[in-house]
Amino acid sequence: MVRELEEVNGIVFKRQKYHEADLLAKIMTEKNGIITLLARGALKAKSKLGASLLNFSYGTYVIYSSGHGLSTLRTFKNVKQFDGIYDDLIKNAYASFVLDLIDHAFIEYQNLGKYYNLANFALQKINSGTDPEMITQIVQMQLLAAYGVEPELRSCVICGEKQGEFDYSIRKGGILCSKHFYADPSRLHLKPKETAVLRTIFLLPFNRLGDIKINSATKKATRRAIDRIYQETIDLNLKTKKFLDELKLTD
Ligand SMILES: [Zn+2]
Repeated sequence: MVRELEEVNGIVFKRQKYHEADLLAKIMTEKNGIITLLARGALKAKSKLGASLLNFSYGTYVIYSSGHGLSTLRTFKNVKQFDGIYDDLIKNAYASFVLDLIDHAFIEYQNLGKYYNLANFALQKINSGTDPEMITQIVQMQLLAAYGVEPELRSCVICGEKQGEFDYSIRKGGILCSKHFYADPSRLHLKPKETAVLRTIFLLPFNRLGDIKINSATKKATRRAIDRIYQETIDLNLKTKKFLDELKLTD
C-alpha cells in the first residue's frame, strides 16, 4: 500500500527510545485513532523532532502512514504542551491514567469519536487546575460504554423509577430504587447522594461537568464505587492506576 503524507491533530501520551537515536511515541489523534509514530534520529542533538514528542504535547503532526503498523513523523506544526501537567507529579499521574484508560479501550487506528474530545477536555481541565480526581472519575464513568459496559443509570433497573433514593448494583447492571434494594444484597451500599454523583457524571455531557465540586468523603466513596465497577466488569490492572493508588490521594 502507498504511504501517504498527511497531517493529523493529536496528543502525545507515551514515548520510548528505539534503536540508537530514534524515538517511538504514541499519539491519540482526532481522526486516525491511536497511532505509534517513529521519529528517526529524534534523540540526536540537532533533531527538532524530539521536542515535539514530549509527553502531553499536542498539535499538528505531519506523518507518513499506511493506516496500520508504525507511522513515520516527518515534521510538525503548532505543537504546544500541557506544561501544567508535565511539571506536576500529581497532575501527571492522573493524566497518564486517563490517557492509558482511553488507550486500552481502543485498537490502533480505530476512530476515537467523542472520546478524543473527552481526552482533550480532561487534559485541559487537569492542566488548568480543576480537581484531577473529579475529572478522572468523570472520564471513567463516561468511558464505560467504550469498554462495552453500559449500566442503566437513568432509572431503577427493576421498575424504571426515576425519582427518589438509589443505590448501585454491579450484578444488576445499574441503579436500584429503595423499593428494590432487596434485589441485590451485595449492592454497593452507597449513600443516596453518592449514587446521585455517579448518575450525574455518567449521564451529563462531559463539557457540562467541568466545575463539579463535591466533598472529600463523597469523592472517596465514589472513587471506591468506580474502582469496584471497573474491577468487576473490566479488570484492567493498569500500571498507571497502581501508581495513582500508591500516591493515596483520596485516602
Ligand atoms: Zn425499583
